[in-house]
Amino acid sequence: MRVLLVGGGGREHALALGLAGDPAVEALVAAPGNPGIGEVASLREVTPTDPAAVAALAVEVAADLVVIGPEAPLVAGVADAVRAKGIAVFGPSAQAARLEGSKTFAKDVMTAAGVPTARAYTCEDAAAVARALDEFGAPYVVKDDGLAAGKGVVVTDDRAAAERHAAECGRVVIEEYLSGPEVSLFVVTDGEAAVPLLPAQDFKRVGDGDTGPNTGGMGAYAPLPWAPPNLVDDVMRDVVHPTLAELRDRGTPFAGLLYVGLAITPSGPRVIEFNARFGDPETQVVLALLETPLGGLLHAAATGTLGAHPPLRWRDGAAVTVVVAAEGYPAGPRTGDVITGADRAGIIHAGTRRDADGTLRSAGGRVLCGTATGPDLAAARDAAYELVREVELAGSHHRTDIAAGAVEGRITIPG
Ligand code: AMP
Repeated sequence: MRVLLVGGGGREHALALGLAGDPAVEALVAAPGNPGIGEVASLREVTPTDPAAVAALAVEVAADLVVIGPEAPLVAGVADAVRAKGIAVFGPSAQAARLEGSKTFAKDVMTAAGVPTARAYTCEDAAAVARALDEFGAPYVVKDDGLAAGKGVVVTDDRAAAERHAAECGRVVIEEYLSGPEVSLFVVTDGEAAVPLLPAQDFKRVGDGDTGPNTGGMGAYAPLPWAPPNLVDDVMRDVVHPTLAELRDRGTPFAGLLYVGLAITPSGPRVIEFNARFGDPETQVVLALLETPLGGLLHAAATGTLGAHPPLRWRDGAAVTVVVAAEGYPAGPRTGDVITGADRAGIIHAGTRRDADGTLRSAGGRVLCGTATGPDLAAARDAAYELVREVELAGSHHRTDIAAGAVEGRITIPG
């Protein structure tokens, strides 16, 4: 199988490692990729959000499967353009990707499908914003309606800050606050059959103790020792299958990766958000534990044959990833700084570039992450932090408490 992987962040580096490790994958091309991905794939230039350009590249490299990492190409219709060339693609159509691209569309699908989620209003002016904030009370949850790379959401007790964010965004979704630990569940689907991966937890806030602004994600771990034993089965039954059925009924089946972001509330799991692709950095930990060859799994989902795929196999133990971010991230990351100590197994590249002389430099807000597995969560955590300690990047910062609560048994479901 010849595979073209679209994207160039940490998630795509993790996908590239998984695909390169699949004996059925005889050639792996990544576009645009990054220096880490370049170690296991040949790199090509492409604008990932240009449907015609990606489809042409898929034809040129004779891809049997195209795997689309990020959300923006999906929302732009890249999967549709590749499919129109008769090439199998892992990633939903633009219509189905609206599950991520529009919070309002996602709420509409959830309501129609009876999926448990926060009550919400879409608001377009200050009066509607004020009414919704009054109804729900603090903490206030205000979300930009469109794609915002995980940074369009403000959760705050400060009414003025909530109103300010709403005014800046224009069209927003204001919703009820959900309390309880968060879970990311990835589901591989061909639109009908659906296979859950291991649940993971990520850390959205920039600072230790969940302080500071939201980011794209500062770290993750899997599996979740504190999760209720029936969590995955319940979410498949109450969330995933009804959502997939609703999208089939609308004539826009969802094939690809359905990311279910949940809060485990006192009344059970509630959907915080859907995404239409693998999450970053949870992918790094989930794929580190997946033993089943990745290319075959994604190909089955892309070709409507997932129902015949054998059950997944997982490695024992746990995985932890810790993101190293550039100075100023998330507000205004500084780039171009020299990175040393990163050329080792377990370092996943996210925002890096290499000079002609081989010098590695930062090229994005989330620069790289240290990903490690171990016989248990504590061992995996120690190993991930050991990797991060070896990396030198001026001004960089990382959270020191990734997976700490789970290791110390401090995560509880309220109520
Ligand atoms: P989203 O982009 O929708 O995933 O939101 C980003 C983060 O904001 C989530 O991971 C949560 O930590 C928080 N969040 C979003 N919606 C809610 C909600 N209804 N209640 C509590 N926290 C939320």
